Amino acid sequence: MLIDMMPILSGECDKIDLDFTLTLEDDIDDISFREPIRVCGAVVNMAGYMTLSLEAQVRYMTSCARCLKELEGEAIIRYDKNVAVEKTLEDEENDDYVFVHQGKLDIDETLCEQILLELPAKHLCSEDCKGLCPVCGKDRNIDPCDCESKKEIDPRLAKLANLFGDNKE
Ligand SMILES: [Zn+2]
Ligand SMILES: [Zn+2]
Repeated sequence: MLIDMMPILSGECDKIDLDFTLTLEDDIDDISFREPIRVCGAVVNMAGYMTLSLEAQVRYMTSCARCLKELEGEAIIRYDKNVAVEKTLEDEENDDYVFVHQGKLDIDETLCEQILLELPAKHLCSEDCKGLCPVCGKDRNIDPCDCESKKEIDPRLAKLANLFGDNKE
């Protein structure tokens, strides 16, 4: 999204309302965006001090970290920045700022970064998802296998088993 800042820079108005969609083409890790992201907010000028605040409604598909079932996620991401015309600040490396270039504000990159940063890194279909059995691979939510009971051995015995395993090699 390229925001035309001229109405504010020329003093014509103090606020520009924004309502647009952002399309993220690529999947990120196991998150895919099937629909464009709706972004709403405004750029406001208060006595020469400009701020940009946006809210993005993000809907995405991902999979459960334990059982791999596909699930839908939803998040509201807030994006707040100070706005300055480029070359008017001493320190342009400041992450709190976005800069106006030739009368326009290009925010796609930093907005995408913010969205990706704030999405949860791990999703679960439910808090008590039992996940896949590490032994037979069955979904334990649907089909509780009996691998668990076979696997449960005395930890002291397990230690011994490991010892023997090591000796064999
Ligand atoms: Zn799950
Ligand atoms: Zn199993």
